Amino acid sequence: MRVLVTGGAGFLGSHLCDLLVKKGHDVVCADNFYTGSKANVSHLLEYPNFEIIRHDVTFPLYVEVDQIYNLACPASPVHYQSDPVQTTKTSVHGAINMLGLAKRTGARILQASTSEVYGDPEVHPQTEDYWGRVNPIGIRSCYDEGKRCAETLFFDYNRQYAVDTRVIRIFNTYGPNMHPQDGRVVSNFIMQALHNEDITIYGDGNQTRSFCYVDDLIRGMVSYMELDSKEPGPINLGNPNEFTIRELAERVIALTNSSSKIILKPLPEDDPKQRQPDITLAKKILGWEPQVQLEEGLLKTIAYFSERTLA
Ligand code: NAD
Ligand code: UDP
Repeated sequence: MRVLVTGGAGFLGSHLCDLLVKKGHDVVCADNFYTGSKANVSHLLEYPNFEIIRHDVTFPLYVEVDQIYNLACPASPVHYQSDPVQTTKTSVHGAINMLGLAKRTGARILQASTSEVYGDPEVHPQTEDYWGRVNPIGIRSCYDEGKRCAETLFFDYNRQYAVDTRVIRIFNTYGPNMHPQDGRVVSNFIMQALHNEDITIYGDGNQTRSFCYVDDLIRGMVSYMELDSKEPGPINLGNPNEFTIRELAERVIALTNSSSKIILKPLPEDDPKQRQPDITLAKKILGWEPQVQLEEGLLKTIAYFSERTLA
């Protein structure tokens, strides 16, 4: 199978390229390296079934493929808020361009959507039929509304042009290949702990997230694309084990034997108070559930960051 992965040099994309290359597919990784890096995929260049192209998905792309995984989009609040107009363009124009490619080639296409479509949710845990509570004009909106509009486009290309579209809603995922300065909570806390710097909790630390290890997520994503029946989703993919941000900080300090102290910083605007996936649908349709729990996943991620940044 010829498979296109947009955002393939990023954190999730690089793990996905790894798995697809190992499965023997011809993989084209397209990335503009905004938050991703060639180093994440350079080891794959020795495989004849892997290639990489510098491409911005806000422009059309002409390649012949059987499957498209559309992951291109900065995912960390720090990065998606630094050029918010480009973030919306990446989600919306990127979706139009990749869906156009899928329509022309007849390719199956998956959209990496997000739990952010639920905004600051009143329904807990979040089920796929919940429409969400998103501020349309806040600092997170470029990402949240961009992703919501991309979902709309996926469903309209499905209904209007019968494109085989699939949407997953990814909940906070972490692991090796996250950029050390990515800005998301797991990488921030691990980097701070490894350097015995203050651990920066935003707000009081009672807000919750549910953290999924990258290998689990990628396994779910690929099994969804391998499903022969047409199933547009959306399907939540994440680990339902929920933690407060303070609990996460304490675990990271303990697992790294760090002398870091916790300090409190202002909570960013519109920061969701709670987040936990209901994965009943993923279990039913894909027979999928996460296998790696937080401590095991954190230890693997800590080992990756220690090797990279303390060497
Ligand atoms: P990431 O920032 O590491 O990767 C995103 C990749 O997209 C990077 O390689 C970046 O250079 C590339 N990119 C950005 N804009 C682009 C453009 N205009 N054209 C081409 N490439 C572009 O983030 P990630 O965590 O790997 O996220 C991958 C996808 O999964 C994103 O779409 C994100 O919204 C989604 N997602 C991730 C999580 C998570 O917890 N990791 C949660 C929800 C959704
Ligand atoms: N957060 C924090 N300290 C940090 C980075 C993030 O307390 O150094 C908090 C952030 O305010 C949010 C949670 O951790 O409540 C998860 O943040 P992240 O940026 O990883 O992703 P989000 O789920 O908010 O998109």
